[in-house]
This record gives sequence, structure tokens and C-alpha cells, in this order.
Amino acid sequence: MKKKFFHIPIFVPHKGCPHDCVFCNQRKITGRQKDITTGEAKLIIDSHLETIEKYNEKGTYYAEIAFFGGSFTAIDINKQTKLLKIAQSYVNSGRVHGIRCSTRPDAIDDDILLNCKKYGVTAIELGVQSADEEVLSLSERGHSFKDVENASDLIKKYGIELGLQMMTGLPGDTFEKSIETANKIASLCPKNVRIYPTLVMEGTRLMEMYEKGEYEPQSLLYAVNLAAEVAQIFISKGIDILRISLQTTDGVNAKTVIGPYHEAFAELVYSEIEKRKLEKHIIENKLSNCTLEIKTDKPSQVIGHRRSNKEYFKEKYNIDIKLTKN
Ligand code: SF4
Repeated sequence: MKKKFFHIPIFVPHKGCPHDCVFCNQRKITGRQKDITTGEAKLIIDSHLETIEKYNEKGTYYAEIAFFGGSFTAIDINKQTKLLKIAQSYVNSGRVHGIRCSTRPDAIDDDILLNCKKYGVTAIELGVQSADEEVLSLSERGHSFKDVENASDLIKKYGIELGLQMMTGLPGDTFEKSIETANKIASLCPKNVRIYPTLVMEGTRLMEMYEKGEYEPQSLLYAVNLAAEVAQIFISKGIDILRISLQTTDGVNAKTVIGPYHEAFAELVYSEIEKRKLEKHIIENKLSNCTLEIKTDKPSQVIGHRRSNKEYFKEKYNIDIKLTKN
């Protein structure tokens, strides 16, 4: 039986981040967020474990403590170590199975990875965002794609699982550049990826650029199509997609952001992928005016968000989609 996978997310705000990526709202939320203490980290882990252990038998799940938020390995090493020691104590007790963190590619070196190894970090995710130097520069990331390649190699050399995160629709980005980014990311052989369409949040430099007419966000339709294209590249290479679109936390919702926000964004992307597969089959087999019975373990994606795929095939090909149970 496949084990259920759980993340226990701990948000570590990066107050001292010296960078100023145009899309990041860390500076804006910095004043509202306190540093996380080890006591608070323990409370978060305990409350998640209580729920996980209540509904899952031991041995049937895999739980990871995940330090997300800012750039974990760029914060003060003593602070990193204190949090990692807490996480490691849960791994040693057998209740948790791994430790994950997200960081910047230029915040990775031998010393940092030695410390991560010492305290049991099993996976590191790098914010790549783009493989295009112009996009990285316009987004004021402060690192190059070479930094991503070097950090990825080093993480794998230390036997730590590699995850890579990319964004679409950053300043200077195009459809082709995002596809190129996905291909270059895939060539680094990460275990998993996350795909984030750029959203314009209050208090960011991107909002200023948007207000001055210097930045135009992606439309929802464009962002879904592009994310579907990108996702298909990763799926075809057997790379797991951990997430598509921003987390709906920290006040991120349709009212607080500008851009291709949708609460079911990932569902829209996976439905689009199923639609493309089905349309390919229909065209190749010259089908129309019929009923297609489909056996699937992804019924909602085949039918589409609010039955969009079902209606699309009915209208375009006069084909009725019927799902049969597995
Ligand atoms: S490096 Fe991370 S925390 Fe710092 S500004 Fe960029 S996105 Fe924000």
C-alpha cells in the first residue's frame, strides 16, 4: 500500500533577507511576524502529529517537517540549528520521517549542507523562479541560473533530495522562456517541483511596477495553459509536482492579489491536461457524434472544473463523455 504523505509546515519569516525580489511581500509582512521560537515550532509539530496519528496507523504514513517561508539556510546558523534540533528529535522518536526546507540557490555551500546533514535534513527546495538571466535580473533575484546549477549539484552530492520551484509570468518572462525554464529545471533531475504563477501582492515592488504600467500580469487562461504545458514537461520526465499555484494562506485570496489567482488553480491545470489528452485521442481517431466511455481514477479532472471539459467536447465534437467506475 502506498504511504500517505504529510507535510508539517513551519513558516520561518526571513526578517533579515538582504534581497528585494520584486514579487516578495516579506518586507511588508515582516512587521507583523515574530521570529518563530522553538516552543512554537514544537506546538505546531505536536498539533499536526495529533491529527495525523489519530487518523492513520503507524507505518501507513510518511511525515515531514517542512521549514518554509523565507530562505531557511540564509538565516542565522544558530537559529537554523535550534529549529533543526527540535525537528530531529521528532525524527529520532520515529513519529516523523524527514525534514525539508526551502531556500535560495546562493544560500547553499558545503558548511550549510554539512550542518543540514548533521541534523537530519532529507530534502531541500530551491527557489529557481527562472532560468532566464534577464527575467532573474528584472525580478531582482540577485542570483544567476549558474547558482541554481551549482547548488543543485551540491545538494545531490550530499545525498539530500532536491526540489526546485519555478514561477511563470515574472517581469520579462514569455511563454517560451517559461518552457525553457521547465526544460532546464528537468535537466537538473530534481525529485520534485512546484509551479507558481506570479501574483501581484500589496506592498511589493511588482505592485509599484503594475501601477506604473510597467508590468502586466498573466490572464487566468494564459497562466493555466502555460502551467499545463510546464506541468506536462515534468510529468513526462517522471518528476513529481508537489504544488501548482500559491498557498491560500497569509491573506492571499482573490481580493488581496492581482493576477491569475483562482482558488482551484491546480485543478484547472490538471483538467486542461486531461482535456488535451482526450482531444488528441479524439483527433487521432477522427471521433465525433458519439459517446465516449472513459475509465479513470481522475473523474473530476476528466470532466473538468464545473464540467468545462464535458461541455467543451459536447459543443466542439458532439461527444458525450461518460465515466465508468474503476
Ligand atoms: S530571497 Fe526570498 S525572502 Fe528574500 S526577498 Fe527574495 S523571495 Fe523574499
